[in-house]
Amino acid sequence: MGAPPSRPADRALARPRRRPLAAVAALAALLAVGAGVLVDLRTPAPRPADAPAADFSAARAYRNVEVIAARPHVAGSPANDQVREHLVGALRGLGLETEVQDTVAQEAGQLQRGNGNHSMGRVRNVVARLPGTDSTGRVFLVAHYDSVQSGPGGNDDAAGTSTILEVARALTTGPRPRNDIVFVLTDAEEACLCGASAFVSSHPLAKDGGVVLNLEARGSTGPVIMFETSRNNANLVELFGRAAPHPVGTSFAVEIYRLLPNDTDFTPFRDQHGLDDRPRFIGLNSAYIDGGAIYHTPLDTPEVMDRGSLQQHGDNALGLARALGRSDLPTLWSGDDATYFPVPGGLVRYPGWLTWPLALAAVIGVLVLGLFARSRGRTTGRRLVAGFGLALVPIVLAPLTAQLFWAAVTAIRPGHAELLDPYRPTWYRLAVVALAAAVLLGWYALVRRWAGPIALAIGGLAWLALLGVPLALFAPGGSYLVVVPTLAGVVAGFVALNTRIDGPWPVVAVTAAAAVGVVVLLPTVVLLFPALGMAMGGVAALFAVLLGLAALPVVDLLHPQAGGQRGMRALRARKLGTLPVCAAALAATVFAGVGLAVDRFDAAHPAPTHLMYAMDADTRQARWLSHEEHPQPWTAQYVGGVERVGGEFPGLDDAELRSGPAQPADLPAPKLEVLSDTGDADVRLLRLRVTPQRQVRLLTVHVDGDTAEVLSAAAEGRMNSFSGPSPNLPWTAGLTFHAPPPQGIEVTLKLLRKDHRVRVMDVSDGLDGLPGFRPRPAGVGVAGSHSSDMLAVARTYPL
Ligand SMILES: [Zn+2]
Repeated sequence: MGAPPSRPADRALARPRRRPLAAVAALAALLAVGAGVLVDLRTPAPRPADAPAADFSAARAYRNVEVIAARPHVAGSPANDQVREHLVGALRGLGLETEVQDTVAQEAGQLQRGNGNHSMGRVRNVVARLPGTDSTGRVFLVAHYDSVQSGPGGNDDAAGTSTILEVARALTTGPRPRNDIVFVLTDAEEACLCGASAFVSSHPLAKDGGVVLNLEARGSTGPVIMFETSRNNANLVELFGRAAPHPVGTSFAVEIYRLLPNDTDFTPFRDQHGLDDRPRFIGLNSAYIDGGAIYHTPLDTPEVMDRGSLQQHGDNALGLARALGRSDLPTLWSGDDATYFPVPGGLVRYPGWLTWPLALAAVIGVLVLGLFARSRGRTTGRRLVAGFGLALVPIVLAPLTAQLFWAAVTAIRPGHAELLDPYRPTWYRLAVVALAAAVLLGWYALVRRWAGPIALAIGGLAWLALLGVPLALFAPGGSYLVVVPTLAGVVAGFVALNTRIDGPWPVVAVTAAAAVGVVVLLPTVVLLFPALGMAMGGVAALFAVLLGLAALPVVDLLHPQAGGQRGMRALRARKLGTLPVCAAALAATVFAGVGLAVDRFDAAHPAPTHLMYAMDADTRQARWLSHEEHPQPWTAQYVGGVERVGGEFPGLDDAELRSGPAQPADLPAPKLEVLSDTGDADVRLLRLRVTPQRQVRLLTVHVDGDTAEVLSAAAEGRMNSFSGPSPNLPWTAGLTFHAPPPQGIEVTLKLLRKDHRVRVMDVSDGLDGLPGFRPRPAGVGVAGSHSSDMLAVARTYPL
């Protein structure tokens, strides 16, 4: 197919008489809208310690952060005992009925951690109640007070815990709420969500269910995002939009979160259903997530916390607690899933039943717009088809470019592979946005003359409309992202086609439509970066390019008009047309360069490394292990080969690990005693006590599956669904017990009569003092993971 004649189809949607002026005005308008969107996403200023007593003060809350996150306080550790005592004292000091729920619980529902084990744990939840004056139900404010083993949890989740203490203080100063407010500070969230699980399954205050606000942090800064809700959230979201002073939340986040393998304390609440199959708890889950480099690392200290994020957590939690405290709670259960998203100054929401009508209206609208443009002689059928096909190119190319860019950065700085997000991600994020812009502008400069601006604009809208359909089907809360800008674009298209092309209205219409695209899509582009990390920067690039397609008629204003020109003038026009793409490409290069120059690893921003130590007490063979795929120089001192250790250390993940020989350490394996061995000729009933011989974080117990068949198993008197056979591993049935008490745990096994072998393993934290271990030099840090610097000792007991 040769180049079609450039007239009349090469005419744009808008061709104002003073084109440069219109282009500048449209761009300025979009930049202003974009700036408004970004300003609206900023965190509020932290309030000082002398703020009025009824208000939330980040400065007051921060005092608790410093106490809670003074050092790592993993569940079951003496440090965690101290934190708990502080919390109990603080809540009792407010005059609240406060108690410690001390029990054993199983990991919630479907969640399992990699090794096929079913986790249990001993937990001690701190529970306090502010009784309502005329309660219609209970409101639960939930955060976890334990930290990971590898860091003090200054943000995760001293932020949520301290927010709740300060909210509790503020609530006790004013008039009492109508509904009961229950403050639940859970234990062992990091281990197995066992604290929350214990609360929902066995605490008397949880029996009748209620409304839950869970507060989390997965980073150190950024806006607090309400990222998860219970199902049928319309009434709750309505209340959130009204009562939270800074409501940042999108139904798209809910959809993304449902696809990710993450869980928080909210999960056990969300998954509890009554006999009538109605959820017992409904609620909202909020967290700030930017600054993810420090997540679960020793750097997650109080000092790195953005107090503005803490203030936003508190303002929203207090506003919501007050609103829920006076609501007629049962009415909140009805409704369907709402679609909602942030706009400057508030939260837009519309009912879920509108999803399909809007998605279909978008598809039909684009179709009709295309036919109308053709009937007006402004484009041709062939061009429309070409425009549609060509518009797919940037949609595919921009994410791909972003992924390649990050692969290159990771090749230059391998430490990035161990980070959720870089320490200083801003330059890299800007580089990805500039890359997406360069792809879009480059593509447009190449194909504009060929297919024509109108066909390309409609082709871009067609892809947005089409994406709305799978989104409506699989992630309905996300379909607004493409459907709303499409509808705005369709309306603008009709306005432009029905008014004088050289008048002001087409420019106003396409600029307004592009502004809708900015308002709807820009927060998603901005929030997707911290949500998914640079390793998935392609997703943000995808939405950036969709934003560009929604704004294509404005992009067109940047191009000198091409129609009807010949010779030198056309050549000059084409040269000018490449200016924007050159600017975007240059910007991408500069941003990437500055990013690499600024974001170096140093003592304050160490390259995270992963190392653990495992010893077989039977053979006294020990090894270093790392999950780094390409070991960094520090890690490579310890590990070289590749190994799977699930057979020898059945509590560990059976993934391929880097490994290397280590000297045996003088560490006792957990002790196993047979308390009783009864049964009959077929079935053997074993009562065992497994006792750690040192301060440990968890114990695992596995039975050799080649010689045993486990009929049932229990630990600490609770039935445990021992995991079923898994291929390739001799140890097919096992359990993990977190935070075991010093006197150990009692395990009861009902087995088919045979000779049995039981393998026990325990896990502690910290490699200091191990023979052959040299502490990390400055600039080398600890990766944020549940197995960083972990130390495991395993032993087999034939029975
Ligand atoms: Zn955590």
